[in-house]
Amino acid sequence: MLLCMLHWHLTPVLATSQGMSEFDFLSGIDDVPPTPILIAPQPVLREVAREVRPEDMAFIRDQLPGMFSAMYKAPGIGLAAPQVGLGMRFALVDVAEEDAPREPMLLINPEIVTDSEQMAAREEGCLSLPNQYAEVVRPESIRVRYRNLAGETIERDASGLLATCIQHEMDHLDGILFVDHLSTLKRNMIMRRLAKEQKLGRR
Ligand SMILES: [Zn+2]
Repeated sequence: MLLCMLHWHLTPVLATSQGMSEFDFLSGIDDVPPTPILIAPQPVLREVAREVRPEDMAFIRDQLPGMFSAMYKAPGIGLAAPQVGLGMRFALVDVAEEDAPREPMLLINPEIVTDSEQMAAREEGCLSLPNQYAEVVRPESIRVRYRNLAGETIERDASGLLATCIQHEMDHLDGILFVDHLSTLKRNMIMRRLAKEQKLGRR
């Protein structure tokens, strides 16, 4: 019997930033057609995404140019796979300032290792809830563990905007939207306003 098994690399790497060689396609990203982003209340945005397996990596690599293009064109600072209809646990993040060099991150099967007791309130928006913003309270800093495109395990400390963004994107992998952190009253108000604006926009 021929056994062909794919395995993850087992060596953990502690990184402060991600190797740009993973994202060599970004030099021509402006010419890549953006993958369409799904708008709430699309049901896939409410589903729990499944773990990425080693055999998914080639597929994910193929999805990245269109997804990065969509995130940068929006413009946005994060995009999770469920937002483009893929029920897999991976997300893109880039919180670099508009005129600064890009700082792309790809987080595959991300997990929060530790989070701070200190909380921070920050205004959030979401490409799946266009034009809607609200202040959300989350841990100010986190340590996150994830896999990169090479399948290596990476651990990284994040605080401030990056920590907020990573937690927001990780929520998407569990079918959670930022409005779920608000009161029912506020959430309903935002969802109604979004539905109204979407209806008007489609006329
Ligand atoms: Zn979002």
